[in-house]
Formats: sequence, C-alpha cells, structure tokens
Amino acid sequence: MDILFLQPKFQERIWGGTKLKEVFGYDIPSPHTGECWAISARLGNESIIKNSSLAGKTLLEVYEQYPELFGSLHPIHFPLLIKIIDASSDLSVQVHPNDDYAFDHGIDSGKSECWIVLAAEENASIVYGHTASTKEEFIQAINAGVWNDLLVRKTVKAGDFINVPAGVIHALGKGIMVLESQQSSDTTYRLYDYDRLDDQGQKRQLHIKEAIEVSMIPHVEEKVQVPFSYLGRNKITRYVSNKYFTVERWDVLESLTMVNESYQLVSCIEGSGTINSQPFQKGDHFVITSLAKRLRLDGFASLIVSRV
Ligand code: ZN
Repeated sequence: MDILFLQPKFQERIWGGTKLKEVFGYDIPSPHTGECWAISARLGNESIIKNSSLAGKTLLEVYEQYPELFGSLHPIHFPLLIKIIDASSDLSVQVHPNDDYAFDHGIDSGKSECWIVLAAEENASIVYGHTASTKEEFIQAINAGVWNDLLVRKTVKAGDFINVPAGVIHALGKGIMVLESQQSSDTTYRLYDYDRLDDQGQKRQLHIKEAIEVSMIPHVEEKVQVPFSYLGRNKITRYVSNKYFTVERWDVLESLTMVNESYQLVSCIEGSGTINSQPFQKGDHFVITSLAKRLRLDGFASLIVSRV
C-alpha cells in the first residue's frame, strides 16, 4: 500500500476534444471529452484504486478508512484534485471563490488552482486578469459588454506554468491541454460565455453577481518564481508552494532516492520508469502514501507531483 495506482474518470464537455486519447492513449467516452479526473476523491467522481489489497476501492473510501496512509495532515475532505484538461474550444470566462467566501456561503472549499501547459497550438491563448481598476469600472464594462477591453489575453506554450489563485478571472483558450492541480472543489462562477448557444439554442447560465463579489479588483499580477534544483542529473522544479498545495515537476534521468514525509499525488506526463520497483508510464497517476518512507525512482520520465 506504499503506492496506489488510480483509474482515471473522464468527463464529456461541449468544449472537449480527442487529445486525451491522442496524447495519453486513454479510452475516452466521446470526441468531446474535456476532462480526465486523474486523482479525485470528489463524491460521484472518485478515482478507483487499481493495485494492492485496496484494489477496487475508491480514493474517497481509502481516505476515510485508512487515515494512516495520509499522514498527519488529515482534513475531513480530501484536499486536492488533479485533472488533465483538453480545451478543444474556448472555456467560459470564470472565477472561483476563496475559502472565506466559500465557508460563508455553505460551500465546502474555495478553489485555487494552477496549470502546467502540456500542449498548445501556435498562438493559443488564455484569459488571465482584467483591466478594471475599480469595482464600478468592472461592473460598467460588464454591463456594456466590452469584453475585449475588459479581459486580458496571454499567449501560452507547452511547458508554461500558470498560477490561478481564487479571485483571478481566467479561461483556458482553444487548443490548450493542461494538467491542473487544485483545491478539491466544484464551485465556478461563470462571468462570460462568448454568447454561445448550446444544441437547444440556450445560453449557459452565468453567475455575474457572485463573480463580481469574488473577483480580485484591480487584478494584481503575481510575480511567479519557479526555482529548481538538481539531485544528481535529476531536475526538481518547484512551480508553486502556498497554503493549499505545493506542485513540483520531477524530471527523472537517473536513479533518484529521497525521503517521503507524507503523501504525494503523482502524474506521469512523459516517459516511463519504476517507483519502489513498481512500473509506471506516461498517463499513469498514483498516490505515494505516507507508508512509503523512502522513494527510489528509476527510468526516464517527467512527473508532476502535488501535495498539501
Ligand atoms: Zn477555473
């Protein structure tokens, strides 16, 4: 029970595509598959354990029944959610609440998230932030529908890291695939959906009032520093470390040993190898439980590692 491999779940979305199959070889349910819920303990969308004596149980069951696997940091709800997202068309412009707002409104968690860009078409872009300097200006721009003036777009490329704290207006754009690490939450306030209509000729529901309440105004650009270090030839890049999560990239080129202090959520995005003698390959997701006191990695692989 040192390493628990997980069966991902897939979500169809109107903006989804087929890249989850093309890039990772997953058996996707349709050509509009938007999300791979890779490491999830959200009720109804839980990952299923594939190996060990816990095979067949959900990550939620294991989290509740075997707290010793998850160290001393043990909030009631499993705190993180890891997804791979294939944006085949633009996602709606949205914002998420922080913990304070969530708790005041009966929601179990706020939602800060971050993205590692796995693939991006040439000139693909995201919405990130806005130009309003006061809440009045922000509301005026929304009422006037001057979205191109209000929203800030940034081009992205494979390998980029984007931190999306609660309160930051954001949207993935067409042609981008990301791995997302986030607080485990479903709460999204949709600000703008490009006036698109669904098959029934309906616009999707917006949550303008809530979006205005939780948005950071003015938007303040955070300086992102991405320190890295080497263990032998292996490169450890720390994308982010805040009170919700730490996310790192481990580029394994030779045998790597380290001490494990709690539990860690791992996604293999390139290559293959072994961890404590158990094989993994691109597209695999696993939990290193706190029973694993030492880790030994071999192979040639890039891993995204998230922990609280
Ligand atoms: Zn989001």
